[in-house]
Amino acid sequence: MEIEKDFYFLEVHKKGVVDSSSIIAIRDSRGLTCVETGCGGEENIKQTLALFEKEGLNISDIHTVIISHTHADHMGAIGFFKDLIPHITIIDHEIDAPVLQDSTLLYGIYDVDLIPKYFPGQTFDILEFYRGLCHISEVKPDKIVIEGDRIECGAYVLEVLYTPGHHLGHISLYEKNHGILFVGDMLGMGVPFYTPSSGGVTGYLESIQKYRALGARLIIPSHGALIENTEETLNKAEEKVKNREVRLLEAIASHPKTFHELLPELFQDTFFHVFPGTAMLESHLIKLENEGKIIKKEERYFSAGQ
Ligand SMILES: [Zn+2]
Ligand SMILES: [Zn+2]
Repeated sequence: MEIEKDFYFLEVHKKGVVDSSSIIAIRDSRGLTCVETGCGGEENIKQTLALFEKEGLNISDIHTVIISHTHADHMGAIGFFKDLIPHITIIDHEIDAPVLQDSTLLYGIYDVDLIPKYFPGQTFDILEFYRGLCHISEVKPDKIVIEGDRIECGAYVLEVLYTPGHHLGHISLYEKNHGILFVGDMLGMGVPFYTPSSGGVTGYLESIQKYRALGARLIIPSHGALIENTEETLNKAEEKVKNREVRLLEAIASHPKTFHELLPELFQDTFFHVFPGTAMLESHLIKLENEGKIIKKEERYFSAGQ
């Protein structure tokens, strides 16, 4: 869909647990700048090529690719793009750049070590999980960006916002003149998700405040449809996180609880307790302890003052 002249939103309609991210393509006199590449792997790449074709865009015209964050569904096909168009410029945030070159760093960012800590004998291999669903590539970025950098794409200027929470090196992009905000995985379908090392609950809420200050007209998420009710969407995301916190505080206030007793407050379905429940609950407990609202004594969490 051409949402503004030469500014395309190539929406992927989600089918599975992990499906390719949607892609933005912006045309300028040199060709195309893309935000994200989607998953690698034959089927996903076929889907991506079809999205370009449907809009009359030629994938070999791409000269620049910007990556919002190194989750496989956003950058898995980067190796394919690089092989097809060797002169391509790959742009990533400075904190994310090492991860783009070495996907094993994702183990730390996802805090997978917490799983055997709380579920002795159990492990969760995030790279195995991705490999089964969404091929990963590793490449060296050609250009590093930080908060406040501007990326010019013809008639559009994308300002880089550093927005941790969902992922430590996550960036969002703001096109001020048109009021268009690209938020990657911070808003849209299936979120909010956070781990202590991805920026945690605190990082997530601070990033939402950063969005709020912009007053964007249109939000582009990586998963799901374009968002026009921007204010309401920001409120809902914030409420969802704060409601999780309220539920935890109420449960702890009624009776001191162990980590395992608190997991159902976030996810009633035990399927989600190991992943992503463990890292998400740890994120909340760290925030609440830092704020002096709860205290841990031996294995239980108490309300402060109890
Ligand atoms: Zn993600
Ligand atoms: Zn995603």
